[in-house]
Amino acid sequence: MSNHASYTVSNLGYPRIGEQREWKKQLESYWKGQIDARQLLSGLKELRLSNLRKQKEAGVNWIPVGDFTLYDHVLDHSVAFGVVPDRFAAIEQKDELSLYFAMARGASGINAGEMTKWFNTNYHYIVPEWKSGFTPKLVSNPWLAAYNEAKQELGIDAKPVIVGPYTYVSLSKGFSRDQLADIVRSFLPVYVQVLQELQAAGASIVQIDEPSLAGDVPAEHWALLEEVYQALRGATRLKLIVQTYFDGVDDLPSLYRLPVDGFGLDFIHDRGLNLKGIAEHGYPQDKLLAAGIIDGRNIWTANVAQTLELVQELQKHVKAEFIVLQPSSSLLHVPVTLKYESKLPQETLSALAFADEKLQELQLISRALTDASSVAGKLEANAAIFAALKSSPERNRFSGDAGKQEDAVLNRKSVFASRYQQQQERFQLPLLPTTTIGSMPQTADVRKARQQWRKGELSNENYEAFIDAKIAEWIKIQEDLGIDVLVHGEFERNDMVEFFGEKLDGYIFTANGWVQSYGSRCVKPPVIYGDIVHTEPMTVKETIYAQSLTQKPVKGMLTGPLTMLNWSFVRNDLTRREVAFQLARAILSEVKALETAGIGMIQVDEPALREGAPLKRRDWDDYLRWGVEAFRLSVASAQDTTQIHTHMCYCDFHEILDAIEDMDADVISLETSRSHGTLIQALRKESYEKGIGLGVYDIHSPYLPEEAQIKQVISESLEVVPAERLWINPDCGLKTRNVDETIESLRRMVDAAKELRTVTVGS
Ligand code: GLN
Ligand code: ZN
Repeated sequence: MSNHASYTVSNLGYPRIGEQREWKKQLESYWKGQIDARQLLSGLKELRLSNLRKQKEAGVNWIPVGDFTLYDHVLDHSVAFGVVPDRFAAIEQKDELSLYFAMARGASGINAGEMTKWFNTNYHYIVPEWKSGFTPKLVSNPWLAAYNEAKQELGIDAKPVIVGPYTYVSLSKGFSRDQLADIVRSFLPVYVQVLQELQAAGASIVQIDEPSLAGDVPAEHWALLEEVYQALRGATRLKLIVQTYFDGVDDLPSLYRLPVDGFGLDFIHDRGLNLKGIAEHGYPQDKLLAAGIIDGRNIWTANVAQTLELVQELQKHVKAEFIVLQPSSSLLHVPVTLKYESKLPQETLSALAFADEKLQELQLISRALTDASSVAGKLEANAAIFAALKSSPERNRFSGDAGKQEDAVLNRKSVFASRYQQQQERFQLPLLPTTTIGSMPQTADVRKARQQWRKGELSNENYEAFIDAKIAEWIKIQEDLGIDVLVHGEFERNDMVEFFGEKLDGYIFTANGWVQSYGSRCVKPPVIYGDIVHTEPMTVKETIYAQSLTQKPVKGMLTGPLTMLNWSFVRNDLTRREVAFQLARAILSEVKALETAGIGMIQVDEPALREGAPLKRRDWDDYLRWGVEAFRLSVASAQDTTQIHTHMCYCDFHEILDAIEDMDADVISLETSRSHGTLIQALRKESYEKGIGLGVYDIHSPYLPEEAQIKQVISESLEVVPAERLWINPDCGLKTRNVDETIESLRRMVDAAKELRTVTVGS
């Protein structure tokens, strides 16, 4: 290995939320009016500086600035570039902060900007809205402000991070794709100005994030990209690094043609693509390689021996002094620090690395590359962690005899038509049966009881009695409303993944492993640490209690394998497919347990199926194939007379209609208020052959649905789905709604269904 003097260590972005979610707390106090703007801004400045200080102390040479934000960094770009939709005009007159938060969260009578997932992560950004005829202008330069602040306050010569024009525009909406090139060009003067102001302030290097280059880049866009980066190159002497992440870049030779100083490549989530590309095409001798060598979006300790091999491999093509060591992406996607995880056993803890620990890992790797003997002990300790993990009982539950699992059953006994008929004989449902998605309002009393129970202030017995009373209350409400297929209401669940994770073997939970999901909202994803095993029935008690109270069928409610997978941090020693299959087997055990207990309908939710799809379209087939197989494995052994439901929401279903059909659920309920038109269009072209419920009202809307509106949706749906297979349901679970609006909305839904039933039968 090289004896190069030292490596530059870079970071691409640091979590903004603070060690104790100070960020969230301050924002929310401000929104509640408990602190004023001055207090908010000074509180956040303190946090921002402390984040920088920590990175400096961790030995990071290129410390990012501009990654911190008051809500979302993409929104920061929109505001800085004047990309403000006209509906905010009245607020634009007020102060900057009001405008900013109105765009983020809406204001009275004005909708917020749309929120969408940042690539295939669970971080949501505010979608920039392009307006035709608009000319971008630099309203403010937050990158300059951040650069100056770091320099003045801490003496740090930081690296501003900005989303590049190609990615920024690609993520925007409000234009047709053939306008993209011109719109990108229209941003050039703005980017030039940002860079020139940074240069004048003394900055030396800028990271330009272009993650879109790791997706599907149409061949003709590379000419545009060359033109864009020519223009930026010509305007500044700053070192420019074009940074990609979350996958490999397909066309490295085209990337190499961009006239910049270096490229950031992800060697963790690229499935070998970048390394393969470099082996094939080499690497430009005069450019830096900012090498993403430790996982920026998962929480596992780096395997240092493997990482060193990777760097060694890279050094076959790139001179050591041109290699920069860095995480594969911004650390925004991992929690801040392990230092509050006092409850985890040491061997578990040592397998984890959050943002702060990842920065230490980079130091370790850097030293191992330059002077291995100085860190020999640490390297040994790291190797020991992986040896222990490999032989840990948690990760070897299926070895030996336990490994002989029965062959996966992926097909139901009979085809859909025959099953559906047998099910109809069993359940005798009316035409256009009504149902809900599962959860009923999680009112304050429900949350309070759970908290008290968790703290030990409420006994198991009393908590269960409370849940049972809730179930009874809502079974009665649903019966009175005349709903046909009932649910128990999910009152015992806080979160649809965590609830099951806590009951399955193989999951662990962190105390403080928060990551930002959107705005001030943080999530604490459970961690799939070991082999997943079903040890006891998880939902039978509540479900059979609900069923005992009514003659109508009660649907059992489970979370599907893909959703469990996509909403957890997943162990990385197995493929995602293998883990999904473990989850599927565990869910299958629960399906069996419910069946044995006499439950005739079981819903296995898969709201996160679509979001687990890879960035590149060509990889979708493979993902959807095993994803659908995992789902089928979780339900296919059910009896013909057991009706399997599934539910999905908030995604472009028309893109994956074939996969949905392949899931072979007897009934699927879909959210359609946001995508109704497109889905109906798609169903016109390609009919869906099984039971389907197209959500008849938007459960997120603050307004009650009009009955006429509901009937309209049902009538439109009847044009593409025959009445015998159409179900009537809301868009999604009702846990966030209050009791009165839930009852009234459902009443209107049931009325609409009843009315259309008679019309449909008569016609
Ligand atoms: N059954 C779940 C509920 O009703 C489904 C939630 C979801 O789709 N995210 O809450
Ligand atoms: Zn949903």
